[in-house]
Amino acid sequence: MSTIFSKIIAKEIPAHFVYEDDLVVAFLDISQATKGHTLVVPKAEYRDIFSVPDDLAAHVMKIAVKMAQALKTAFDPAGINILSNNGEKSGQTVFHFHLHLIPRYEKDDAKFSLKNNMSNLSIEDYRERARLIKAALL
Ligand code: 5GP
Repeated sequence: MSTIFSKIIAKEIPAHFVYEDDLVVAFLDISQATKGHTLVVPKAEYRDIFSVPDDLAAHVMKIAVKMAQALKTAFDPAGINILSNNGEKSGQTVFHFHLHLIPRYEKDDAKFSLKNNMSNLSIEDYRERARLIKAALL
């Protein structure tokens, strides 16, 4: 299903583009979590990471690396978060696969912390989780 990103890609809605090739665009997120917050988006409509083809996902990642380097040069951040929300539960709001590149600065107030859920786990729990994931690999 089309989202607002397809309208941006088709230039029907304005955005601040910073990169474009045949397969991928990058533009500033309208909501700048930090200075330079950029989205890397395949032109083709794929809802999420579960549906995007491998070769296109690889290209998106290649461009994300290129954009991370450009952000480093442009703004000299102290670090960068690269994240992708997939599914409503994860926080995805635009259902067209994309990566967020969020430069981090010494004094920014962006927060991406994960709670530590390891305290009640046994070594068997880890083994079983790893076994299930390996068994599910295609
Ligand atoms: P998600 O929540 O799906 O991980 O990320 C979607 C992102 O798209 C949000 O960070 C939101 O600010 C951004 N976004 C939504 N609508 C627009 C828009 O019209 N233009 C731009 N540049 N970004 C948008």
